[in-house]
Amino acid sequence: MLAPRRPCPELTSPGRIGSLWLPHRMLMGSMHLGIEGDAQMLDRLIAFYAERVRGGAALIITGGVAVHASGWEPHRFLISDARHRDDLARLADAIHHLGGHIALQLFHAGRYARERDLGHPPWAPSAVASRLTREVPQAIGRDQIATLVSAYHQAAIFAAQAGFDGVEVMASEGYLLNSFVSSLTNLRSDDYGGAQGGLGLIVDIAKAVRHGLGPTPPLIYRISGWDLMGSAPDGPFLSQLTKALADAGVDGFNVGVGWHESAVPTVSQIVPQGSFAEVAKNIRGRTELPVIAANRIFSHPLANTLIASEMMDFVAPARPWLADPAWALHAYDGQPINPCIACNQACLDRSLAHPPQPISCTVNPRAVQESSYPRKRTATPLNIAVVGGGPSGLEAARSAAELGHRVTLFEASDDIGGQLRMAMRVPGKEEIAGTIAYYRETLHRLGVQTLLHTPADFSRLVVESDAIFVATGVNPKVPDIPGSTLPHVLLYPTAFSEPQRLQGDIVIIGGGGIGLDLALFLAAPPKLGLSASANFWDELPPAMPWDSPVRSITVITRDKAGKSVGRSTRWILRHVLQHLGVVLEENAEARAITMGGVEITQNGVTKFLPADGVVISTGQVSNLPAFVVDHPCPSFHVIGGAREARALDMVRAIAEGLRGAHNLSGMTDKIFS
Ligand code: SF4
Repeated sequence: MLAPRRPCPELTSPGRIGSLWLPHRMLMGSMHLGIEGDAQMLDRLIAFYAERVRGGAALIITGGVAVHASGWEPHRFLISDARHRDDLARLADAIHHLGGHIALQLFHAGRYARERDLGHPPWAPSAVASRLTREVPQAIGRDQIATLVSAYHQAAIFAAQAGFDGVEVMASEGYLLNSFVSSLTNLRSDDYGGAQGGLGLIVDIAKAVRHGLGPTPPLIYRISGWDLMGSAPDGPFLSQLTKALADAGVDGFNVGVGWHESAVPTVSQIVPQGSFAEVAKNIRGRTELPVIAANRIFSHPLANTLIASEMMDFVAPARPWLADPAWALHAYDGQPINPCIACNQACLDRSLAHPPQPISCTVNPRAVQESSYPRKRTATPLNIAVVGGGPSGLEAARSAAELGHRVTLFEASDDIGGQLRMAMRVPGKEEIAGTIAYYRETLHRLGVQTLLHTPADFSRLVVESDAIFVATGVNPKVPDIPGSTLPHVLLYPTAFSEPQRLQGDIVIIGGGGIGLDLALFLAAPPKLGLSASANFWDELPPAMPWDSPVRSITVITRDKAGKSVGRSTRWILRHVLQHLGVVLEENAEARAITMGGVEITQNGVTKFLPADGVVISTGQVSNLPAFVVDHPCPSFHVIGGAREARALDMVRAIAEGLRGAHNLSGMTDKIFS
């Protein structure tokens, strides 16, 4: 490891969890990749974790491994499966071979499992329906509880035999063990009833795991510091819980926040970074053992401050490691971090799908596909032109330069970023500015020549370049609605850049992701300024502060508003818009725009919505330069929105840049080898 870069001395200082000394305080938290348990995917899984070891992770905690078939979900490892055990042992070996440390997370989904996957109702303390799955689980009996304790014991024996450096027991986020200490989900009247009965089970399991693990490897318990369900354990109970677990042989606590059923956002972009640090601090004040925390702790300076102020001892985020596999290393080497923007689009939205999909990362599409996109420098460097500095073009330029090509980026406007510059103006999406800053610094470091204010001269480029990435993006689609060219009608890019032109009653035609983002941008104060709270929604500031133009906003949409927005974000966006007084007219179609408003039909009824301003956000069309259309040529590689405007989002735009650069490199290396 390099000498640490100031100013993160606490973050880069050594620390200890039980018997395990670690070189710094940056762990990689557990995250389900959606490829676990599939033998065909093992090499891919190992490549993913191996790159994070090389990137400096002090300790990697695996995605949850089911200790018993009753707690299994699709695409997860299951300890009782011999082949899965072999694969996990190979993973541990591979990590050790690289000098890394890896802990196995022991998991039981409880009432978040699904009957169609298990063949029987999921296991739970009581038959209380899950808001996540909408299924009613079965209340398990004493025999099943004994089976569980034994399963955890066996899993710990396996972890020790396979050489894992420790174990984390998942007892948070509403999964089985957490549900045993909640008054909402544990309605039992036997020995395991109520919080005290549940505590007894959790402690029995801790003892069983410690026994199976032996005295040395660290045992971490992931406990819920705040469930955000209205049934949070009180302070005295948390003191009792941490003490009882410490007495049972636990070496540290990883503090979770919120259940998957909670109606309070915890991991969304709208939650300010570091918001839940107080929850970890509350646990730290009740135990001598090290405390680990994660929620929305993405930057090194923030992590350093939280550790320095003794709110926690370690940080164990997961998503920042998806976005940047060298997240810890960059605290030492001075290179910029590719920041996670908390969009959840390519990670949580996929892992929460049923069945879960293999995850990746919007800003780093190599994540979980490292073996498909090796960072092998080309033997035949090419002169590559990239036309367009939006997300596709930026990633094509970055990847091509990383692979060893000579790259020139042409951007007609005064800055790079393309549609990202619009997106970063939306309240809650400000962190996208970090993505642009990352590309700016990285392209410079990799020697990419970036020419701003420079439209491409394609007739010259086809002569001078070996390959040309056409990443010219999209233009707004103008629908065939009478009145759409009236002076008070704006296209969405103009509405973002000149919002002062919109005052009074505003109608936005189009309720996809961009339309709703625009509604939020126009309705909300510049900074939402939220803090984490069970009363999160009440804390949202009023819609119209005195220094903002007064607007009343209506969105017209053909289907459900925000249908294309990811599952983990849509409900939050709709809730915030509702709070800000934005009216969503769903299943509605705009028929005509007049100077006074918009005529719509909704469920067969014609209505008139008065409007002082109208914004069109009804999709996009490819912006393909005429030269490229008129002079097709093998050196053109059209990517992103220029290739296909339909269903364009940041995930696809960046992924096509990566794929384009690697395909080109692979082709030329094959031809010249
Ligand atoms: Fe972060 Fe979005 Fe990547 Fe997930 S997909 S790791 S939230 S940037």
